[in-house]
Amino acid sequence: MRIDKLLANTGYGSRKEIKKLLKTGGLKVDGTVVKDPAIHVDPDKNFIELFGEKVEYKPYIYLMMNKPSGVISATEDQVEQTVIDLLDADDAMYEPFPVGRLDKDTTGLLLLTNDGKMAHQLTSPKKKVNKVYRVHLDEPVSREDEDVLRSGVELDDGYITKPAELEYPGEDRTVLLLTITEGKFHQVKRMFQARGRKVVALKRESIGALQLDPALLPGEYRELSKAEISSLK
Ligand code: URA
Repeated sequence: MRIDKLLANTGYGSRKEIKKLLKTGGLKVDGTVVKDPAIHVDPDKNFIELFGEKVEYKPYIYLMMNKPSGVISATEDQVEQTVIDLLDADDAMYEPFPVGRLDKDTTGLLLLTNDGKMAHQLTSPKKKVNKVYRVHLDEPVSREDEDVLRSGVELDDGYITKPAELEYPGEDRTVLLLTITEGKFHQVKRMFQARGRKVVALKRESIGALQLDPALLPGEYRELSKAEISSLK
């Protein structure tokens, strides 16, 4: 990969800043000063040092975003604003992608990474990773709805959902926490639609052990800590 991309990915600044940095002559690859930002290096084979310190290449990025409403979970779009558009250039440079999709009007926890293996582990239905959604409905849930949703509800295409968990965070039975292990298209909305209810607001609060950081305002994001990354692997 290009040396400027590697250094930018490792947190040494934007590509523009790195170009300036290289001009100082502080970078050596296998003992030779390198000033050209376009040269290619192999982080596994070349010894890269900046002002005498070894550069440890960080290949992956893991971000948690509090997705706002009105933004789509895609990497690019001709018309709509995407979650990638909300990232700083230094983070976007890693080319992260959203792990699973949230609808345009759904808010809450969205994980963005360029680690394809982790993304697969979190989204594969075989892995049965819990996703918790806070659901606001137009009408309260009945006991019968609850039983059906818990054991498996038939969606509009005939698919029967895997067992789900339901909890009420308060007295109001129009607000609930739904835990599912799958991620079918519009799954939560369709589960309630099958019971004649309409989802009026939907927010994802957790994926596996990873909880949405309450300090993140809609549209904000941060890198995952080492402990959070390990909790997802
Ligand atoms: N289920 C939905 O219906 N929408 C989402 O965004 C996520 C899960």
